[in-house]
Amino acid sequence: MLIVTATTGFNGIIRRRVHITGIVQGVGFRPFVHGWAIAHGISGVVRNRGGGVEIEAQGTPEAIAAFLGDLCRTPPPAAQIGQTVVEAASPRAETEFRIAKSEDDPSGRIDAAPDAATCPQCLDEVDDPTSRWFRYPFTSCSACGPRFTILSAAPYDREQTTMSRFTPCAECRADYMNPSSRRFHAQTVACPNCGPRLSLQDAAGARIDAADPIAEAGDRVRQGRIGALKGIGGFHLFCDATNSAAVEELRRRKRRDGKPLAIMVGSPAEAAKRCEIGSEEEHWLRSPARPIVLLRHRSGNDLAPAVSGSLCHTGVMLPYTALHHLLLQAVGGRPLVMTSGNAADEPTAFRDHAARKRLGSIADFFLTHDREIISRCDDSVVRFAGSRAVFIRRSRGYVPAPLRTPFRSAEPMLAAGAQLKATFALGKTDRAIVSHHLGDLDDYETLLDYQSSIAHYERLFRIEPKILVHDLHPDYASTRYAAERASRESLMSIAVQHHHAHLASCLADNGVFGPAIGVCFDGTGYGPDGAIWGGEFLMGDCREVERAAHLRYLPMPGGAKAIREPWRMAAAYLIDAGLGIEEWLPAVPRPQLRAVRQMIEKRVNAPVTSSAGRFFDAMAALLGLRFTVAYEGQAAVELEALARRTSAEDVYDFGISAGQPALIDLRPLVCGVVDDLRRGTEKTDIAGRIHTTLASLVEMVCRHLADCSGLMTVALSGGVFMNAILLEETRHRLARAGFRLLLHHRVPPNDGGISLGQLAVAAAQPR
Ligand code: ZN
Ligand code: ZN
Ligand code: FE
Repeated sequence: MLIVTATTGFNGIIRRRVHITGIVQGVGFRPFVHGWAIAHGISGVVRNRGGGVEIEAQGTPEAIAAFLGDLCRTPPPAAQIGQTVVEAASPRAETEFRIAKSEDDPSGRIDAAPDAATCPQCLDEVDDPTSRWFRYPFTSCSACGPRFTILSAAPYDREQTTMSRFTPCAECRADYMNPSSRRFHAQTVACPNCGPRLSLQDAAGARIDAADPIAEAGDRVRQGRIGALKGIGGFHLFCDATNSAAVEELRRRKRRDGKPLAIMVGSPAEAAKRCEIGSEEEHWLRSPARPIVLLRHRSGNDLAPAVSGSLCHTGVMLPYTALHHLLLQAVGGRPLVMTSGNAADEPTAFRDHAARKRLGSIADFFLTHDREIISRCDDSVVRFAGSRAVFIRRSRGYVPAPLRTPFRSAEPMLAAGAQLKATFALGKTDRAIVSHHLGDLDDYETLLDYQSSIAHYERLFRIEPKILVHDLHPDYASTRYAAERASRESLMSIAVQHHHAHLASCLADNGVFGPAIGVCFDGTGYGPDGAIWGGEFLMGDCREVERAAHLRYLPMPGGAKAIREPWRMAAAYLIDAGLGIEEWLPAVPRPQLRAVRQMIEKRVNAPVTSSAGRFFDAMAALLGLRFTVAYEGQAAVELEALARRTSAEDVYDFGISAGQPALIDLRPLVCGVVDDLRRGTEKTDIAGRIHTTLASLVEMVCRHLADCSGLMTVALSGGVFMNAILLEETRHRLARAGFRLLLHHRVPPNDGGISLGQLAVAAAQPR
């Protein structure tokens, strides 16, 4: 906080102008300021300005100090105070504290608040039979409720949201006008008399008559039926998470064979009955963003085994709307599977007609309503490595809050992101607006959604990009989008190598420019040499990097097929180490093994890769865990779930060649694994040893690079570092070796963070 002192006015009365930036609009900040002003006997005014809030406060120096202290200590739950600047002003003759009307901001800086979970006060009203909001599923106030997902244009006013079609009743209008009401200036104010309404429909869209649609939906779920529920950022499919038949049927209809299903429970205590939960996990579960938090489940819990399959973690979230809250009451507090409303790899349905068409063959009934969703926004997902939260997906509840960056974009920029787990990012001055999770751009509908979302964000934030940034990969749909648009609109475009973007993303995430050693482990990234990179040690900063070391190239027999069939990578690793594939992959039919051997020997249809993701795939197949996968990374996730941590010294051998770049040789490790298998060593120990070895390898290579360069800062990025065992062990070793560690905390380490890294690299280029 910056304070400028000035002379005091009459009777020791002073006036201060206070600028507060951060997430302070659309979260009930002005009524909150008003409340403290009254409490401290302050006069003046509060208004929205420049994407922030401006307060003029007049009173005694003591009262103003106490007022400002209370503002900063107890902000509304969904608010995030960025910077506070206080300057002197001349006292005026006034006795009141006013809330000024929100005017369109001339600076052009626009912040749209993320959606926030229903606050505790609103939930109390929903449960209070004497309240106007008793059992009303769309209860909200100026501190809570949908924001970004119902916003069609800036600024955030009711007319610009899908609440515009609901005319507030006299009582709601009075609340909206009353500065002492929690609903003062709440754009989403509504009640059963004037607001959105629920409807229950059958799979064909015919209305089901029910006095209480929520109670009726609850009854159906208790009977084992599957429902579709319109939420904040799209539809969910839900069923009783303790009913095996229902969960298996949901999986079958949704064609979801691999990925675990998320559940919703009523409280942290309900979560604790089924999962291990610490205070940090509870903090994240309860936060207004209400992400899905991956928790290690307890054995013998009441969840159907099909919820998480063979994995030891379950994705858990708490209710984030009054509708969720009432629905959980209607099923007697039992946990619900609450999974995205889509089939297989399609994007989540968020409009009623599309939902009926696409979910009609999955859901037995629909619990929907007449408030439209403008932006599809999937649930965010967080997991823990030790006590650190790592984003797997940053989406609902977090977007589109801008991230402050260590760089300044001289001109407005759009970074197109990657291909899988795609996000895009808009950069203007020192702020980056990273989009919600869009999904995999291989899917045509997702690609259309990607393009229209870019247009929506540009309109919303009034940013016209002058520079387009994209991946080096020529066949990414995001690259093609950027290239086509650059030529159509005569804009400059900049290509950024995938792992440079990973490193820069981690640097930007931590507010630094570099230099650092970047350990970038992921599945796939296009290298300038045409190879598929993914086990990379880079040295450099946001501007430029050199490739200092990488895993030795190995063939990927069958190309992309080797991603879906990890046994192919196991075969490549075995052949590379001079071991017999027939002996160690006995479950794979001989003709297939012969075909793969031929591809490798003749170098046909076998592009080379240094991917660390493919290495984990290969090890999972070698241990017999999984020969084909339903989604990228599945085999690696199962290898992690199997691993029992071993002691730090218990590692396999590996080699590091001198050279530029240094090559990391994993043949000794593969021989060690095979020896262990021959000896009948427990697979949990082998899996643990593989993790420990990779962590020790990262430490060794970083020590070596530090010796050569003097760099003692290491950034860890790439999807492989969502592996909590690997991340924790690596972190521990590097810290012990004296390195300064940079880890992701605002964007995911996976390709969801690529767009931020692309912005950082583009902003750092000399022009
Ligand atoms: Zn509220
Ligand atoms: Zn009303
Ligand atoms: Fe990547």
